[in-house]
Amino acid sequence: MDHSPPAKLRNGRFRFDAKDAELDFGRQPDQNDPEKKTAEPTSSATEAVERPDIARDRKRETLIPDPAATTAKDVWLTFDDGPNPESTPKVLAALSRANLKATFFMLGLNAEAQPRLVERVFDAGHRIGNHSYSHPHLTELTEAEIREEIGRTDRLLAPYLGADKLFRPPYGHTNSLVQMVAAELGYREVRWTVDPRDWDKSYRPKKWMNFGISQMKALSSCVVLLHDIRPATSSNVAAFIAMIRQLAGARFKAPSTL
Ligand SMILES: [Zn+2]
Repeated sequence: MDHSPPAKLRNGRFRFDAKDAELDFGRQPDQNDPEKKTAEPTSSATEAVERPDIARDRKRETLIPDPAATTAKDVWLTFDDGPNPESTPKVLAALSRANLKATFFMLGLNAEAQPRLVERVFDAGHRIGNHSYSHPHLTELTEAEIREEIGRTDRLLAPYLGADKLFRPPYGHTNSLVQMVAAELGYREVRWTVDPRDWDKSYRPKKWMNFGISQMKALSSCVVLLHDIRPATSSNVAAFIAMIRQLAGARFKAPSTL
């Protein structure tokens, strides 16, 4: 549970204080509340007539304090490095309970070891992408080696990739050669905009959740990097989803739109 104050009150983009609220209520006194009626300053009523723009703006601020609340925040969940027989099923269960679909960027070597799990992820309606075969730094490899890393995984995942094939380079490390090889194999490169660092030992088991949320507050397009091979991720992803749902304007997007 996140008991921290809502973004609207601490992100600094909106100044909201009780004084403004009182003045605003003073201009529109509640007929059933004599205390508010008597508290209404005369000058305030005059100002409301002379400066209707201010009155209107203040009323809007009182009712809708956070401009971000009306701004959509698109969210795509992505899970890398699996599938893993222990943790991936937990992620699938959490997504199912939350009625959400995600994209799984799989490693060829793990897909090869867990073919039924690949099928299960796909059958649950999630999208599958290519994350290389063995998670190397592709920018340090030759063209032939890059082609083998992406191509071998491509052959393993072929039945599940669809027409618009997604590739995510390990560590996000890419260059023109990696992109050229990926494109030749029919892939579009997809990175991320939010890295909660669930892969980082010092951010486990739960610190990554608040770190991810803090990044998401500043973004309108959130491609969230998570790792379904991490027990700390699979154990806490349901709570993380609940935290995202409390973010102003957040709406989960279908993996097909990634
Ligand atoms: Zn990875």
